[in-house]
Amino acid sequence: MIQQSKPEPVIALRGIHKSYDDLEVLRGVDVRAHEGEVISLIGSSGSGKSTLLRCINMLEICQQGDIRFCGEAVHWSGDGPNRAPADQTQVVRMRTQLSMVFQSFNLWAHMTVLKNVIEAPVTVLKRQRGEAIDEAMALLEKVGIADKANVYPAQLSGGQQQRAAIARALAMRPKAMLFDEPTSALDPELEQEVVKVIRQLACEGRTMILVTHDMKLARDVSNHVVFLNQGIIEEEGSPETVFGNPKTERLQKFLHASVAV
Ligand code: ADP
Ligand code: MG
Repeated sequence: MIQQSKPEPVIALRGIHKSYDDLEVLRGVDVRAHEGEVISLIGSSGSGKSTLLRCINMLEICQQGDIRFCGEAVHWSGDGPNRAPADQTQVVRMRTQLSMVFQSFNLWAHMTVLKNVIEAPVTVLKRQRGEAIDEAMALLEKVGIADKANVYPAQLSGGQQQRAAIARALAMRPKAMLFDEPTSALDPELEQEVVKVIRQLACEGRTMILVTHDMKLARDVSNHVVFLNQGIIEEEGSPETVFGNPKTERLQKFLHASVAV
């Protein structure tokens, strides 16, 4: 009988360590995201959530640990503080398949919303401009800001800017998306516009790693929740277990404080 093996995770991290000089920020972290899964990363400020996301797309270089992307291992040269990716073309290829959405939107201020969305598909992926525009317009429609295609980011509300940033991320047709506190710079009212889009992406079965302070969102959309504390995974599990039956005192305290705000 032929055994069907489970497909490789889209993202697999094993034993990730990252220090800044003497500060050990990540102390051996394992995270896996299979296709269609939403993994939420929660934890107090300074626990290493952003650093972990930045290590995944190699904006930061972890000093130890393995990163695999759809089964392909990142190649390293050197050890510890001297570690660097061995193959820059591999890094570029992997990065184009992993779109990141930042807390501060990071749109290009000198480009219209439409130009922001088509820029990388045209220049990096060499897509035909007309097709890129059609796809960009469909994505702007999807996130509810098609009428803003020809304005500059400064003319948009924060919620609209973040939705433009999500459209820009989607335009790369990524294999996975990384979200770093996508709603935390927004007023509660605008936050909901963005939450709605993230919920929609989760329903579509997009593979995502989501760092969020929004526990309701994490509870509703995640397949798996990871609680990071001082650079290690203190507790993890299904949203029902992590939120409904937290075992460690640290997670209990964290959730209690999160509900209070
Ligand atoms: P979180 O996103 O969970 O709030 P971060 O990953 O941003 O946490 O930060 C974890 C720790 O690493 C913090 O103590 C922070 O000050 C430190 N840190 C983050 N980036 C840098 C950097 N580039 N240089 C030095 N220290 C950093
Ligand atoms: Mg952060």
